[in-house]
Amino acid sequence: MIGVVGAGIGGLSAAIECALNGLEVTVFEAREAAGGKACPIVHQGYTLDPGPSIVILPEIYTDLIQRAGFKPETYLDFIRLETITRIFNQSASKEREPEVFDLPADHSKLLDLARDINPRDATHLEELMAKLNKWAPYIKSKFLLQPVESPLALLDWKLLQFGRELQLGKEFKQIVDGMFQSDVFRALFYGFPSYSGLSYRTKSPSPWFIPYFMLQQGVYVSQGGVASIPNALFQVAQELGVRFEFQNEVVGVASSGSNIVSLQTAQSGMVKVEGVICNQDRGSFAKLLKRNKSSKPSMSYLTLHLGIRNPSFDFATHNLFISSDYKDGFRNLYELQTEANWAVMYLNAPHLDNPECSPEGTGQYFFVSPCPAQMPSFDQKKAEETLLETVESRLHRFHIPLDLDRIEVEIKQSPLVFAERDGNEFGSLFGVHESERVMGMLPGNRDQWIKNLFYVGASVQPGAGMPMACLSGQHGATGLLEQLKG
Ligand SMILES: Cc1cc2nc3c(=O)[nH]c(=O)nc-3n(C[C@H](O)[C@H](O)[C@H](O)COP(=O)(O)OP(=O)(O)OC[C@H]3O[C@@H](n4cnc5c(N)ncnc54)[C@H](O)[C@@H]3O)c2cc1C
Repeated sequence: MIGVVGAGIGGLSAAIECALNGLEVTVFEAREAAGGKACPIVHQGYTLDPGPSIVILPEIYTDLIQRAGFKPETYLDFIRLETITRIFNQSASKEREPEVFDLPADHSKLLDLARDINPRDATHLEELMAKLNKWAPYIKSKFLLQPVESPLALLDWKLLQFGRELQLGKEFKQIVDGMFQSDVFRALFYGFPSYSGLSYRTKSPSPWFIPYFMLQQGVYVSQGGVASIPNALFQVAQELGVRFEFQNEVVGVASSGSNIVSLQTAQSGMVKVEGVICNQDRGSFAKLLKRNKSSKPSMSYLTLHLGIRNPSFDFATHNLFISSDYKDGFRNLYELQTEANWAVMYLNAPHLDNPECSPEGTGQYFFVSPCPAQMPSFDQKKAEETLLETVESRLHRFHIPLDLDRIEVEIKQSPLVFAERDGNEFGSLFGVHESERVMGMLPGNRDQWIKNLFYVGASVQPGAGMPMACLSGQHGATGLLEQLKG
């Protein structure tokens, strides 16, 4: 039997892949339901998606469901949004009226908008998209669709050519500054390294992937909310005969030689296994393996979820607020690692596409900001205590009132929540810090010493985000299958 530790997106997709290959699979999940950080929170009539909200690359999930022999449309229905994000821009000056415009998913409309912002930036954006278009099949096949055991294994003349064309010898910020003069494009692009737990000083190719997929393919909503994605994978896994044991945390392992032979679980005691797929963060699982491993955490998130009566403001599904102090915000986040970057604040309004997520006459505002993980330099407690105040004052800069009397639900998440609830070491959502990576890339799926242990999820290759976690599940399962076949 294969034991899967955790039913996040990575664990679910690994369980499907193992079952498809005829293996008996049991998933042990500490919580009461599947989905991990994409698992909904139901509170006072609101169904909140507390983690992911931006859906890209839906074909990753539909391909997996199809390969499992099911019709994707039975489980999932994706709609492409016309607007990638609404931008509220106050970057020019605090005194100037903020501008509001939509970043369109349509390519030519996007370039028209870019021309209005800055004609030189539009030319560079077009050149960048053309380069990324040319390299997309290579990026997909080399970095996403196959496991990357070691970044050094990628080193071939094509990667060098790709690196030269994208100027990867330079820091991400230097490249962005060279390409774009406008604050809007700079602020937009400076944010992307944080999606992979990197800083804008990185020289890694990783931060280019997400903006490429977002700008090229657009963003989607999943009918029924983001939680419909793990729900679909959970249903498919069950149909394939995968067993789930909820509220049954894995608390230890027993090994023989260089293999794990049993998992120690909170409810069912010792359970014999032939192989293990671990959806828990590598660093946290190291404690179960009794390894003394100390690593520096990458980044995390601070979030504020508000359930609001009569939400009347004209937001889009995704909204980005760029304040005049955005450069300081990124410096504090990336270089000093002292603060969440509320100077570029993200707001998701899920009730606009999914009215069932909130009681009638109400809606949800979900504010997210990247922040350092649990580190001495970051006063997480203070940041948490002042969260509502911070968000309110940021909105105020854009002349958007937040009527506190209309708030029915207020839920905060911090690195501490991600550490305690989801098992992420130091609350880091992206595994180890950039300084412990090669070319900014996360470690591969394989454990260094234990042969039948493979990791999946956001803290291993190909990286954070639901589609990547889903792919990592497939890579981890394939690796384990090959290992078991000997
Ligand atoms: C605020 C926020 C915003 C995000 N925004 C986006 C976005 O817009 N788009 C996007 O694609 N992604 C986004 N992400 C990232 C995305 O949520 C994650 O990359 C993805 O969900 C991680 O999946 P995972 O497989 O790593 O598992 P996780 O979601 O981390 O799940 C791990 C599971 O393992 C269980 N577990 C851990 N240890 C044990 C144990 N010892 N025994 C049993 N069970 C255990 C946990 O309970 C959990 O259910 C966001 C994340 C957050 C937090």
